[in-house]
Amino acid sequence: MADVPLQMQVVAVQQPGKNSTLVIEQRPVPQPASGQLLVKVKAAGVNRADLMQRQGHYPPPAGESDILGLEVAGIVVQVGSNADEQWLGRDVFGIVAGGGYAEYALLQTAHAINKPGHWSWQQAGAAAETFLTAYQLLFSLGGLTAGQQVLLHAGASGVGTSALQLAKLAGAKVAVTVGRADKAEACLKLGADMAINYRNSNFADELTACWPTGVDIILDPVAGAYLKDNVTVLAEDGIIIIYALMGGRSVDKFDFAPLFKKRGRLVCSTLRNRSHQYKAELTASFSKTFGQAMRDGKFAAVLSDSVDWRNAQQAHDVMANNNNIGKLVLTF
Ligand code: NAP
Repeated sequence: MADVPLQMQVVAVQQPGKNSTLVIEQRPVPQPASGQLLVKVKAAGVNRADLMQRQGHYPPPAGESDILGLEVAGIVVQVGSNADEQWLGRDVFGIVAGGGYAEYALLQTAHAINKPGHWSWQQAGAAAETFLTAYQLLFSLGGLTAGQQVLLHAGASGVGTSALQLAKLAGAKVAVTVGRADKAEACLKLGADMAINYRNSNFADELTACWPTGVDIILDPVAGAYLKDNVTVLAEDGIIIIYALMGGRSVDKFDFAPLFKKRGRLVCSTLRNRSHQYKAELTASFSKTFGQAMRDGKFAAVLSDSVDWRNAQQAHDVMANNNNIGKLVLTF
């Protein structure tokens, strides 16, 4: 068994709220409980939720670590009871409900995925949260099949770039919306069939002109005023899946009739506060469906930048200013 210290360094939030700061703190190394792995963290993805958590808007689920970080990649150095000892020494990655911004993190065995040998630690640390989210939204909830038309808002985001790759692998036609020309270019390079800069034109006008039958699945982290235009471009029997409220939590005078006439479905989804069992099944289903493609190098996290974990603030600033294309990751 690897030599594991009693104490570790973590990124902690001081004064959660508008003026929060990130500081380095000492914490005890967590002990793996039944079915858990202790991972020596090599890389941890940065997600928008981390920014919300430090502002006090997105607390961890009860019983989970209060340390920021929803995903890690690293080496298994201890296993809890009921966890297979074969995991020891393996390079893994996976989602955690908290605790990623630390030298050591706990990972449920059933949430661990073997790191493909050709992926860097950065790619592995940046993969789990957004690929599992994208998989859940497109396939578990959206039921995506080959030939369908998909619209991804915030196409160049972490979730957007992950969803774009999975949707193209599944044989879908994909349109994205983005707020900058270089983001549009990045999405087209990743395989998008259409990239609409919402700052230059109305996405519903553009889409209706090019895809008059409408889109079957819309993944929307913006919500707010986007809802009406989403309904406009939705195909009959289509589904709008809202997975964040970046553009607002309410909408004025929403008329259900157009959605009703199309037999459209409106679904909201989260991942972090789902049960361990749900996440285990999601991880297994993702691995079964896309594991081979992952090992064959058919997709990987799009890395915007990687920074030393002690400079996590730098990564948060990039994300807060909407400057990342794909993922930001902390290296340890
Ligand atoms: P990200 O990489 O930080 O990208 C977010 C992008 O969204 C920004 O770069 C910006 O791109 C666009 N954006 C921001 N504010 C906007 C607004 N008001 N209107 C339109 N576009 C806006 O984000 P992420 O990590 O992919 O996460 C995206 C959202 O999904 C976050 O809110 C996150 O918490 C949430 N999320 C939810 C789940 C779930 O299961 N429900 C899972 C993972 C993430 P442009 O420059 O192109 O506008």
